Amino acid sequence: MGTIQTLPGTKDILPEEIGYWQYVETIATQILSRAMYQEIRPPIFEQTSLFERGIGEGTDVVGKEMYTFTDRGDRSVTLRPEGTAGVVRAFLQNNLYAAGGVQRLWYCGPMFRYERPQAGRQRQFHQIGLELIGTGDPRADVEAIALATDILKALGLQSLKLDINSVGDRSDRQQYREALVNYFLPYKDELDPDSQDRLERNPLRILDSKDQRTKEINQNAPNILQYLGKESHKHFEQVQQLLTDLGIEYHLNPCLVRGLDYYTHTAFEIQSDDLGAQATVCGGGRYDGLVAELGGGQTPAVGWAIGMERLIILLKQLKTSPQMSPDLYIVSRGEAAEAQGLILAQKLRFEGLTVELDMSGSAFGKQFKRADRSGAIACLVLGDEEAENKMVQLKWLTTKEQEQLTQEKLLNNIGELKEQVDRHKKTTTHSTQ
Ligand code: ATP
Ligand code: MG
Repeated sequence: MGTIQTLPGTKDILPEEIGYWQYVETIATQILSRAMYQEIRPPIFEQTSLFERGIGEGTDVVGKEMYTFTDRGDRSVTLRPEGTAGVVRAFLQNNLYAAGGVQRLWYCGPMFRYERPQAGRQRQFHQIGLELIGTGDPRADVEAIALATDILKALGLQSLKLDINSVGDRSDRQQYREALVNYFLPYKDELDPDSQDRLERNPLRILDSKDQRTKEINQNAPNILQYLGKESHKHFEQVQQLLTDLGIEYHLNPCLVRGLDYYTHTAFEIQSDDLGAQATVCGGGRYDGLVAELGGGQTPAVGWAIGMERLIILLKQLKTSPQMSPDLYIVSRGEAAEAQGLILAQKLRFEGLTVELDMSGSAFGKQFKRADRSGAIACLVLGDEEAENKMVQLKWLTTKEQEQLTQEKLLNNIGELKEQVDRHKKTTTHSTQ
């Protein structure tokens, strides 16, 4: 009988890689908290109808990518394919309307979509996302975009490209939609099958088809910017001016669209040349109609989501995974020494030191080798003799200096020990951060 393997499109995130994940989460938390965003953690599964309404039945995500099942209570349940619908539901259910102000939220966690697995595309993947709910001010669009670029820049990523577009408001889009359908109808038979399908359901989405012939046809399609009403035009102009004021470079991309009615005004994407086919690391935009669609009052909002797997593919090209290494490594042998080693480890950890305890019971030589490989700054050594006299050997692995002292003295001079550890750390390069 073989061992059980992960399902297609899912992956273990192993300890050798976890450093990247924690690094990204730390940087994102820092940057988002400085802008006063607070984390929210909605459930990972919700009523199916939330996503049908909140993402839209005409979309690929709802149409063919959702993990939907009936639970034992006969409810239709779906593993969340994205974060926004759940955040907006939580916003409404818990009455998070900030008095007269805006609600700044972010989330991080796994999402589920039944897609064909390939590089940068999984069935369980992870997103960090931000939602700024309660204002239609163009500064909000730009704050959201600026925070996404700040995070990516702080992580050291380069060769990123920001595309922006406006999809106008509901009435702009209605007119544009008609113009598009009129334009595409004569080409109907030449469009790829998905796009033919979208012609009635969701013609705007034809614009982001990846099919070669459809892309050619798209080149001469009417441009949405020509269909923006006065208000929408002004909003988009202001967004562009503010981006310029902040020194954020952008490109206008009239093919960047979201097909659904509650998406309004700004749409944006951040891409990397280093990602191949799955180039988009971050996608977002304004969704002034969603809160009302989910049963709330008319409430404008803007948000984005960063795909963590794709981000980490990029990070791996830049740096090695930050690895953990202990301050102290405890080597012990013999029953009494081993027991004292455990007690010492716990006491030192309590005082704030990072301590790895060797539990192999193997010969001292082997334990020392492992201590070296662990990247520890110093070793604490306990044998029968030390155990009997309540002593310990402190061996600095960087300088090979060694001293013998009582365990009591070691614990009474923790401050000094920490300073010594820090001094030794500065002269070594264990950490890659
Ligand atoms: P794509 O066109 O690549 O399918 P999307 O429009 O479906 O992207 P969004 O719903 O906007 O993507 O999600 C935001 C980000 O989440 C994407 O830019 C991408 O980085 C990431 N993402 C989306 N789907 C997956 C997936 N199946 N596996 C890994 N990352 C994903
Ligand atoms: Mg997709």
